[in-house]
Order: sequence, then C-alpha cells, then structure tokens
Amino acid sequence: MKIGFIGTGTMGQPMLANLVKKGFAVVAYDIVPAALEAAARLGAVPTGSVREAAADGDLVITMLPSSSHVETVYLGSGGVAESAAQGRLCVDMSTIDPGTSQRVAARLKERGLRFLDAPVSGGVGGAVAGTLAIMVGGDAGDLEEARSALAAMGANIIHVGAVGAGEVAKLCNNLISGSALIAVAEAFRIGEAFGVDPQILTNVIAKSSGATWVMEHMHPVPGIVERAASSHQYAPGFMTDLMAKDLALAVNAAREKRVPVFVAPAAQQLYRLASSHGLGREDFSSAYKFLKPSNDDVPV
Ligand code: NAD
Repeated sequence: MKIGFIGTGTMGQPMLANLVKKGFAVVAYDIVPAALEAAARLGAVPTGSVREAAADGDLVITMLPSSSHVETVYLGSGGVAESAAQGRLCVDMSTIDPGTSQRVAARLKERGLRFLDAPVSGGVGGAVAGTLAIMVGGDAGDLEEARSALAAMGANIIHVGAVGAGEVAKLCNNLISGSALIAVAEAFRIGEAFGVDPQILTNVIAKSSGATWVMEHMHPVPGIVERAASSHQYAPGFMTDLMAKDLALAVNAAREKRVPVFVAPAAQQLYRLASSHGLGREDFSSAYKFLKPSNDDVPV
C-alpha cells in the first residue's frame, strides 16, 4: 500500500518510520525542510508539495499541528481535496476541533473523497514503539480499509463513532492529562518546599490514590523518570503550546455544549502563561518550572 504522509514533525517522523518498517511505501511532505529531510532519512520518499504527496497514494495521512493547518492542507489551494483521486481515503491523525473534522469531511465528500479523524495518544514514546492509542471517527468500512496502516503505528485502535467523535475522545483525554500534569507539578513543588525528597514522594504517590499516567511517564521533576522530557532539558515530547491548544479545544467544546468546567480553563491559562514566558516550545511538563514558590514574606 502506498501512503502520502503530510506533516513529518515530532510525531509524524516515528509514525512514518513504523509504516516504512512494516513494508508500506511512504511518500512524504512537510513545509519545513529539516522535517522533510528527517522523513527521508527514515525511508520516506520526499516530495515538494501537498499535491505531490496526495496525488497517487492509496491512503493520505496527515499529522499537523492544529485545525487551521488541517483546513489549509485539505481545502486550501493545491490541497488534498484538489489533488487526491476520486474515492481516496484520507486519515487525519492531528488533534483538532471536531467541528473542523466534520467540515473537512463534508467538503471532501462533495469531491468524492472519504475522511476519518484518527487522533492519537501515547506521546513520542508510543509513536516510536508503535503502540499509540488511535481513536477513530468515521465510517466503519473506511476504518477497516485503513486498519493495517493504523496497526503499524498503534496498538489500540478504537472506533468511537461518526466523523469528529475521535477528536471528542481525544480532547476529553487531554483535558484529563493536561490538568493532571499541573496537579502533579503543584504537589511536587509543595513537597520540595517542605524538604520531602521528590523520589520518595514519587514512590509514595505511585502506590497511592494520586498515582497517574502522567507522573509515571511524564514526571515533571528532572531525574526521576529517565525517559521523561524533564530529564532531557524538557525537549518535547509534547509542546506546551500544543497542550494549551488541546485544553482550548476542550474548553470550547464544553462551552458549545454548556458543560460547566473549572479545572480545564485554569490549566489552560497556566500553559498559556508558561508559553508567554518562553516555554511554549518546551515539553508541557515544563509548567513545573513555572510553579516556583514565590519569595514574598507576607504572613498568610
Ligand atoms: P509538530 O509541530 O512537531 O509537527 C507538525 C508538522 O506539521 C511540522 O513539522 C510542520 O512543519 C508540519 N506542517 C505544518 N503545516 C504544514 C503544511 N501546510 N504542509 C505540510 N506540513 C505542515 O507537532 P507534533 O508534536 O508532531 O504534533 C502533531 C499533532 O499530533 C498535533 O495536533 C498534536 O496535538 C498531536 N499529538 C502530539 C503528541 C506529541 O506527543 N507530540 C501526542 C499526541 C498527539
């Protein structure tokens, strides 16, 4: 099967590397030359445009930062809608607003193209290991057609519902992980301020009701979890700006459906503030750096 892969950044690179390893022919495009060169080193054939990447593959896969990038790549001039052959199946694996997925799917349908939203969870580690969780929205038959390619990148492929439903599941998940990371960072700042060893605190929490996936895999304190971004100068990983975007998607979804939310907007503002202080392109666990105790001495 030949795949046109568009968006070869932090996640796209290990994902397409697994497709290549499993015998798929991958034709890649990214607007950033360094990202495209990295894809070529991983075994993809680089192309010069979205049009070329989408033109003759059996499947188009996109892994782009946000909703506006997905709209541009699919519906913009020279985009997938104009370039892919009739009947082609497109799978967008970016985390974006469910309404955008539905709008793109509807426009593609007018042109005889099919669309699945299939965002992922598991981070760079899961992308490298090929164990991503993939949450799919769209037609069940289309999912079966894409399944072998998705299985090269992920271990758990879950059909959530109609187009957009995969994105809803993803924003619900990241509402939890983004908020949990802030809670973990706050807890460790308090522990440190009282002189509690962060390794011992980790051991305690890992065996207690506060245990959470983000602490186990993305511990914000450097030196506790070797593979965590914090132990590598907070190199992403998952950028603060992307987590701020995902929490904004969750908050917008809550507003649209009039669901009261308190924790997610607070976490979102903290990531935005961290970004405005230069941490936007660091891993989201770098929010911990931002939560330093103040040195005021006014009694509480
Ligand atoms: P990234 O910014 O590293 O990669 C995105 C790539 O898309 C970049 O290389 C960029 O140059 C490219 N791009 C942007 N516009 C383009 C265009 N018009 N044509 C071609 N290429 C274009 O981001 P990432 O970390 O790989 O994340 C991608 C998506 O996956 C995001 O929606 C993110 O929220 C989601 N996600 C990321 C992680 C993670 O751990 N990084 C985990 C799960 C989901």
